[in-house]
Amino acid sequence: MIGVTVLGATGSIGVSTLDVLARHPDRFRAVALTANTDAERLAEQCRRHRPQYAVMVDPEAAQRLGELLADMPERPEILTGVEGLEQVSALPEVGYVMAAIVGAAGLRPTLAAAHAGKRVLLANKESLVVAGALLMQAVADSGAELLPIDSEHNAIFQCLPPNFSDGLDRVGVRRILLTASGGPFRDWPLERLTSVTPEQACAHPTWDMGRKISVDSATMMNKGLEVIEACWLFGTDTDHVQVVVHPQSVIHSLVQYDDGSVLAQLGNPDMRTPIAHAMGWPERIDSGVTPLDLFAVARLDFQEPDFARFPCLRLAFESARAGGTAPAVLNAANEIAVAAFLDRRIDFPGIAAVVEGTLEALPRESVEGQGLEFLLDVDRRARAQAEHLVQARAG
Ligand code: NDP
Repeated sequence: MIGVTVLGATGSIGVSTLDVLARHPDRFRAVALTANTDAERLAEQCRRHRPQYAVMVDPEAAQRLGELLADMPERPEILTGVEGLEQVSALPEVGYVMAAIVGAAGLRPTLAAAHAGKRVLLANKESLVVAGALLMQAVADSGAELLPIDSEHNAIFQCLPPNFSDGLDRVGVRRILLTASGGPFRDWPLERLTSVTPEQACAHPTWDMGRKISVDSATMMNKGLEVIEACWLFGTDTDHVQVVVHPQSVIHSLVQYDDGSVLAQLGNPDMRTPIAHAMGWPERIDSGVTPLDLFAVARLDFQEPDFARFPCLRLAFESARAGGTAPAVLNAANEIAVAAFLDRRIDFPGIAAVVEGTLEALPRESVEGQGLEFLLDVDRRARAQAEHLVQARAG
C-alpha cells in the first residue's frame, strides 16, 4: 500500500488524481490532501478519502475546514501555511507526492518531496521553470524519482528508452516534438485579440483545466513553459525541442530518432491517463479513460507555430536560451499578468507586453551556485516589476 500526498487536491489535476487513486484502493491510500482556500471542497475530499493530514495554506480557511470537519470521526490533523505543505511532502509514510499546486507557490513543497526521496509526480511545471537546477539536483542527491504528469512530457517519457538519462544523443534521439493544441485563438484575426474575455480564454477547445493554465494555453505561454520543462526533464536544449501545433490533442508528443523512426503516444485528452501512468509505472493500471476511437478522430492535423500571433512562446524560447534568472522572471511576470487579465485589469495582448517589459527591466543574472532564497528573491522582484507595468497599463 503506497501512501500518497496530493498537493493541490482541490484543483483540476488534484481531482483527477483522487479519481485514479480511488480506483485502486488495494494499491494507494491518501495520506495528505492540500488546498489554498477552498475549505468546502477539501472537507468533502477528506470525508471521502479519509487522509491523516489536511493542509489549508490560508489560516482562516484552515479554521473553516476544522469547523466543517468537527463531527467527522477520525478526522485528519489540520496543518497550515507553506510549512504544512512541506511537512506533508516529506512524511515517512508517504511514497508518492503529486505536485499539482499552480504556479511558483508549488516550488517549496515540491523541493521538499524531492529532498525526501519521494516519487514526485510533477504537474507543477512552474517549479522546474523557476528552479530547474535546484530541483534536478535534489532529485539526484536523494534518489527521488521525477515522473512527468504534463501530458506532453509524460508522452515523451513513454517514447524514450529507459536509459535516456545517459544523454539523448547517446540513445539515438534527434529531436523531441512537443505538440500544442494552439488554444482557442489559433485562427482568430489578430485585431480581435484585444477583445478576448477571461471566459473565452478559459474555454479550451480540447482540455478541461484550471484557469491559469487555460490562459497560458491561449497565449501559448504554456507551451513555452513546457519547452523549458522538457529541457530540464530530458537533459536537452531548445535546439532539440520543436513545437508542433496539433489541434486535435490526440498525439500528446513524439520523439524523433536518428534512424528516421518517430514514436508517438496517443490517447483521448484526459489527464487521468498520464496520472495513472506515473502512479502505476512501470506497470500499467486502469485510469477510467475512454479508449481512443481512431475512426471517430478520423484525421490529425499539424501546423508550425506562429510566433507573431503568440509572442509569449517567443519570449519563453528567448528566456530558455538566455538561461540564468530569465526563466524565473518570465514565470513570475506571467503569473502576475495572467492574474491581472483574469481580473479584467489588462487586455489579452497585455499579458505578453507585461512579460516582455519585465524581462527588459530586470537584467539576466547568473544562478550558478545560488540557492532557493536567491530564486525566491528574483521571483519577488519580477512580480513587483510586473505589477508596476500592470498598473501603468490599467491606469
Ligand atoms: P487549479 O487552479 O485547478 O488548481 C490549483 C490547486 O493549487 C488548487 O488545489 C489550489 O487550492 C492550489 N493552490 C493555488 N494557489 C496556491 C497557493 N498559493 N498555495 C498552495 N496551494 C495553492 O490548477 P490545475 O490543476 O489546472 O493545475 C495545477 C498544476 O498542474 C499547474 O502547474 C498546471 O500548469 C499543471 N498542469 C495542469 C494540467 C491540467 O489539465 N489542469 C495539465 C498539465 C499540467 P484552492 O482550490 O484552495 O485554490
